[in-house]
Amino acid sequence: MEIFFARYELRLRRPWRIARTAQGPEAEALRRETIFVRLRDEDGVEGWGEGSPSLRYGESAETAAAALRRVDPAWLSFERPGVARARLRSELTRDRAARCALSLALTDGAARRRGLGLARFLGLEPPRTPRLSSVTVGIDRPERVREKARELRAYPRLKLKLGVPEDRELFRAFREGAPDNVTRVDANEGWPSVEEALRRLEWLAADGRVEFVEQPLPASLPLEEHLRLKERSPLPLFADESCLDAADAERCAAAFHGVNVKVVKTGGVAEAKETLEAARARGLQTMLGGMVESSLSVTATAHLAALADYLDLDGAWLTANDPFRGVWIDEGGVVRFDAAEGRAGIGVEPRREARLEWRRI
Ligand SMILES: [Mg+2]
Repeated sequence: MEIFFARYELRLRRPWRIARTAQGPEAEALRRETIFVRLRDEDGVEGWGEGSPSLRYGESAETAAAALRRVDPAWLSFERPGVARARLRSELTRDRAARCALSLALTDGAARRRGLGLARFLGLEPPRTPRLSSVTVGIDRPERVREKARELRAYPRLKLKLGVPEDRELFRAFREGAPDNVTRVDANEGWPSVEEALRRLEWLAADGRVEFVEQPLPASLPLEEHLRLKERSPLPLFADESCLDAADAERCAAAFHGVNVKVVKTGGVAEAKETLEAARARGLQTMLGGMVESSLSVTATAHLAALADYLDLDGAWLTANDPFRGVWIDEGGVVRFDAAEGRAGIGVEPRREARLEWRRI
């Protein structure tokens, strides 16, 4: 097996800030580096993957590239992707972005070898029925939040990032821009205590159009704090930073009403499927999400739509230089699967104008 990888800088259409990056410089809020992997077997069959590293999990494009350089091509095979993934799990324990890129590429190549779309290859119904995704308004000055919300009014599901001292002001500005849209709120661990979280949950619930709240408390707080909040919360709570993979499903079922599953947190699309199944088996609601990433990751994720109650697939929609063409979100907020439909594997196509500099391992 030959392994190639490329680092790529995604440019954001608008500054992208969440609770933990709210104070960062504008230049940093306009870029995000991701990693692509391309595997090619002896017969010339290829598999592609992506892993968008997040500093929250101690990863960067540097650490992901370093992890990829440690990979022995002999570990990888499209014939036995399950064995290869198990090897990657033990060799790249902490490097989830690199593991995700390789695991996606393995699953993509294995599905392409069998001529099957990724959903079918994983034993799922391919996503066909149009469904809504949320699109996100990041943290910004109130006047810019108002303006962004106004621009996005045609999208029936919005997600608003909160988790800063100015939350109330930001939410008011958001509602001035988008008075009626059903809205998900993501605090990204920004509310330091149960009491602080409850105060905000109460005025968010009084709004009447907030669907649920993602990750109110820091994941590092003791489980009892999360349990205490769930007991008193007037709105459903979803785990994101508290739910990395299937191993967290049990704890999350106690402390949350739902989970946000992302391929890069679980380490691949087969792993994300396991996580969704573990969550559903415990009665959790499920949302499919992602990082800021290209439509390679988004399309791989979308193949799991049959297992998700909610879709939050705007990772590539946020960017201005997506190097792939795949699943996308139209101007009414509907996820369009048609580009990948009928194709083997993940089903994306590189855009002609995209310049990826592949290096061989
Ligand atoms: Mg989140």
